[in-house]
Amino acid sequence: MKRTLIIKTPTLVGQEVKLQGWVVTKRDHGKLTFIDLRDKSGLVQCVGFGQLGDVTPETVVAIEGLVKNRPAKLVNKDLVTGSIEIEVKKYQILNLSKELPIPIDADGYDINEESRLKYRYLDLRRARMQKNIRLRSSLTREICGSLDKREFVNIETPMLTKSTKEGARDFVVPSRFQPGKFYALPQSPQQYKQLLMTAGFERYYQIARCIRDEDLRADRGFEFTQVDLEMSFVDRADVMQLVESVVKEAVVAVGGKLKEKNFPVLTYGEAMSKYGSDKFDLRSEADKKAGKLAFAWVIDFPFFKKVDTKDVAEVRDGKSGWTFTHNPFSQPQDKYLEQHLAGKKIDQILTTQYDLVCNGYEVGGGSIRAHHPEVLMATFKTMGYTDQQIQDGVGHMLVAFGVGTPPHGGIALGLDRLVMLLAGETSLKEITPFPMSSSGRTAIMDAPAPITAEQAKELGLKINS
Ligand code: ASP
Repeated sequence: MKRTLIIKTPTLVGQEVKLQGWVVTKRDHGKLTFIDLRDKSGLVQCVGFGQLGDVTPETVVAIEGLVKNRPAKLVNKDLVTGSIEIEVKKYQILNLSKELPIPIDADGYDINEESRLKYRYLDLRRARMQKNIRLRSSLTREICGSLDKREFVNIETPMLTKSTKEGARDFVVPSRFQPGKFYALPQSPQQYKQLLMTAGFERYYQIARCIRDEDLRADRGFEFTQVDLEMSFVDRADVMQLVESVVKEAVVAVGGKLKEKNFPVLTYGEAMSKYGSDKFDLRSEADKKAGKLAFAWVIDFPFFKKVDTKDVAEVRDGKSGWTFTHNPFSQPQDKYLEQHLAGKKIDQILTTQYDLVCNGYEVGGGSIRAHHPEVLMATFKTMGYTDQQIQDGVGHMLVAFGVGTPPHGGIALGLDRLVMLLAGETSLKEITPFPMSSSGRTAIMDAPAPITAEQAKELGLKINS
């Protein structure tokens, strides 16, 4: 017999069906055993006469039985399948469950993080997590669909690569073939996506995993996912308009409620003087209650800032004491181009950067990019790089910028944060299937873990500890 999904059962009264799923609860009444059975589509009551006595909660079973209308006074209006029940004819235990180490019937917020992550595969069974992860999938699908429709090409870029600066430390991977040398995991696909513009794709996107070694917070992990895109022959307004349309379409399609039909645009100066922050929250108390999303754009950021000497990555990037505020590959605004090339009045140069904020979080950032070698060189010179260091770091970009690279710009949207806000959660862990703990340990599989002496030798590594 073929499997029927639980959600279909009310339409099959009088017929025999085969259901497969998990036992949610069991109630024994003498010879009669009632269970609630759950699959991905819903929940249904099954009644076993002299049967099902040996199942335990969370056991996986296959049940063959008759779909019957419940007597009127036993109809459960809160349940989609509440008008029927399954009279069990036969059943098979597919996997008997022991007692669970963590409860999964409530929202789970009060369970400690260690247990939730150790048994994440159980934690994910709870209704709230199922909903969040499925929402993540739907939002991703809508965004991809919206970009596909606009003729973006979905292209993957390497994970083992060279450092590309986004203001964090790199995670590095030792090379077995070239001992003493290291790959860096991408902080973003920034350089590759620009090179795809040189390659003539004109519109690129990718659901891109990015890896940055920075301090962990509720709204920041080592690994995260960006909707990364880049477009050729565009100006700032073109990118902002397109991204706004894509975000609106996707958010509304998954049931999100927007505060404004059109996203307000504020300059960095306005944001700082009005809200004291460039990640502001435009929601009223009523908007918050209604679960609205208040998106806004921020533009006209300074290109450079003084290095924060407590930030190791900034000190490394900004050798002159100046570093980029957002992205070293950005193009300065036209009226500051000369100043930028001359390395003068650095503090006054504004970049073409645009950030997307929502409910007090930065959910995206991008810019029009430098596509002439002298502009990119000037950026790195301002940050105190020698010609040799520039060649070593971004020499390949300078070559590409000399062989027909079109003007281009793009953005990266923080998919995790968008899902978090849509789901009404306040931590990325609640929308990430397998997140790390606050101290950077992986869920379930305990990493980071030591490697064997043999592996270290093979990689040419000496471990001091
Ligand atoms: N690389 C991104 C960009 O498109 C920004 C980021 O990764 O945060 O500008």
